[in-house]
Amino acid sequence: MSLDNCDDDHDDDRPETPPEEDCCGSGCTPCVFDVHKTLLREWESRKTRARAKPAGNLLSLLSYKAFVVANVSDTSEDYILLCLEHPDSKIESNVSLRLTPGQYVMLHSWSKSRPYTPIAWTQRSLVLLVKLYKHGEFSLLLKNAPIGSAINVRGPYGDFKYERNSFRQVVMFSIGSGIAALYPVAKAIVDDEAELTRVHLVAGFRSVEHVPLKKELSHLADYWNFKCTLQLSQLNDKTVYLHGFNINAGRLCKALLANYLRSNDTETSLILICGTSEFNQSTKEWLQEMNYAHIHIFE
Ligand SMILES: Cc1cc2nc3c(=O)[nH]c(=O)nc-3n(C[C@H](O)[C@H](O)[C@H](O)COP(=O)(O)OP(=O)(O)OC[C@H]3O[C@@H](n4cnc5c(N)ncnc54)[C@H](O)[C@@H]3O)c2cc1C
Repeated sequence: MSLDNCDDDHDDDRPETPPEEDCCGSGCTPCVFDVHKTLLREWESRKTRARAKPAGNLLSLLSYKAFVVANVSDTSEDYILLCLEHPDSKIESNVSLRLTPGQYVMLHSWSKSRPYTPIAWTQRSLVLLVKLYKHGEFSLLLKNAPIGSAINVRGPYGDFKYERNSFRQVVMFSIGSGIAALYPVAKAIVDDEAELTRVHLVAGFRSVEHVPLKKELSHLADYWNFKCTLQLSQLNDKTVYLHGFNINAGRLCKALLANYLRSNDTETSLILICGTSEFNQSTKEWLQEMNYAHIHIFE
């Protein structure tokens, strides 16, 4: 169907103009011509809405879009922040990069692809938190990618949807790079002034030196509704202090989980989990034994 045909459809239901003689001239309220004017205005605005192009996404679910490396920086011992930018600065005004917090994208380069979860984005750029593995093929290539080199991106994927104020509290459990899925969800809640929901992020790492996004998390902790606990498996200096963080030693286990949740209600809490598949599975089982009804795993 052509756009012209589309317009014809709308012309068909244009409100008919009443004949002159339908107005008796005695000041009726509403006069038939006033009613016609209102109907005409409504019809015109319907027509304008139908003509307006739907807002487009710079990303596509089915095809890769070319981005370039705009910046690579260290954020902790084995994490980098990678900023990718769309190379065309003159994209159409109603087209922009659209994704919801917690969704992930597929990166493709060097004949390999891997999923990553953007932690921040603008209309035409996105920032990824990438964990560097000792022999990790893709992560090491990303770390050494020259500024301006091309990386293809498709997406976004992931079905997590969060509705404002739908829970009293959101408790998040992550280990390692799993924090990439939970941080943008936490930030979106904290940034929303109409939110009354409290967020507690419990993030597991090896040591303080391995914790990425310290500045960003400490900034969130300045808000009344966010707190962050670092669960560190190799905490040598028990007196260590980091502004905005609670720091605990040891691996997350069922007893610790129960302790973190002791003041939470099973019906009004949303629990988000992101880590390795073993971590996700055991955390989910512990939560189910504690009768938590609302659990989402990012995997
Ligand atoms: C939905 C989703 C979202 C994700 N989001 C993120 C994210 O935001 N950030 C992030 O950092 N990661 C994320 N990941 C993980 C990411 O996609 C990659 O799997 C990760 O970066 C490792 O890729 P790599 O190529 O560097 O490592 P790989 O080469 O795939 O290696 C992975 C592991 O295997 C080990 N290994 C490699 N070769 C060998 C070998 N020969 N023998 C023994 N061990 C070996 C490596 O040391 C490493 O521990 C996500 C994964 C999923 C599924």
